[in-house]
Amino acid sequence: MSRFLSRRFQEIEPYTPGEQPQDMQYIKLNTNENPYAPSSKVLRAINTEALENLRLYSDPEIKELTSTISEYYGVNPNQVFVGNGSDEILAFAFQAFHDEKQEVCFPEITYGFYQVFSELYQVPNRKIPLTKEFQINIEDYLGCKKNIILANPNAPTGICLPLSDIEEILKSNPEQLVMIDEAYIDFGGESCIPLLKKYDNLLVIQTFSKSRNLAGARIGFAVASKEVIEDLNKIKFSFNPYNVNRLSMVLGKAAMEDEDYFRQCTNEIIHTREKISMGLKTLGFEVLPSKANFIFARHPQIKGCDYFKKLREKGILVRHWADTPITDFVRITIGTYEQMTSFYQVTKQILER
Ligand code: PMP
Repeated sequence: MSRFLSRRFQEIEPYTPGEQPQDMQYIKLNTNENPYAPSSKVLRAINTEALENLRLYSDPEIKELTSTISEYYGVNPNQVFVGNGSDEILAFAFQAFHDEKQEVCFPEITYGFYQVFSELYQVPNRKIPLTKEFQINIEDYLGCKKNIILANPNAPTGICLPLSDIEEILKSNPEQLVMIDEAYIDFGGESCIPLLKKYDNLLVIQTFSKSRNLAGARIGFAVASKEVIEDLNKIKFSFNPYNVNRLSMVLGKAAMEDEDYFRQCTNEIIHTREKISMGLKTLGFEVLPSKANFIFARHPQIKGCDYFKKLREKGILVRHWADTPITDFVRITIGTYEQMTSFYQVTKQILER
């Protein structure tokens, strides 16, 4: 730390992203990327003209991609906001809708960035414990007088709330903004975007990083009322008007237009998830019921940190959180069927030893 860092930031514990080895010698099951390449239509979308146009700034209103997303979800284009990954949108939302009087609440075990943004933007927060089955108890959020942010499915548990629960929360908090982070919704959950017809206190955030095979392009989007989207734009245009680059806009549009490929990849991942979950259970693992592209599992005979280290020695990366209430668990991204078969074989060997 330099002696120049503002006192406001001295105590902040930044987010630790999962390891991104650059040599590709691992089976990489640690950061919930899609194991399949973007569709051939996406790969063909970038031509020389697109590259030559990089001399120009990107469209600050992101019109084309916004329009593709709005058509896909049957909402008005002024209800869509596109960001440089959904992390950027979360950051904007923490800035836009909170202050020392307007607190936010979220589950004690959830996506780590909610805590980080809350510290960065000095938003007071309340962390609500999960049940002992690692479920969100929606009673805790009814009429809670704080803004709410929930990942649905939750991360890293993978457990998904039904639409009826989200609706209860919205109904009982009409004066609070309820932010639903649907990063993993396309792997078996039901999006709450249709609830926007009834509730104007809802902000839904999604990403192209998981189900749309484009983590490296950094595209996220939010769907909400026109007014909430205007607020997000106010922050964006006070920070970085060209927040999404030209190439990503083209790639994102092509990805959203290739519905067949999207279905094919998500179905394959769901199928593989169910198979590997069953396999791990037969080896004695407890596997939480996941509707995401990852599973969260623990085994009574091996500590999470030892299992993580042994997998790593064998060239398989998963995610583990040391010194936390979830330290027994590892989170395993669903890879291709072949990758998961190798993962299963290695796990079996580790347990046999
Ligand atoms: N929300 C959740 C719950 C996540 O797990 C992630 C991925 N780390 C994100 C948001 C951010 O995704 P991205 O910025 O790639 O859109």
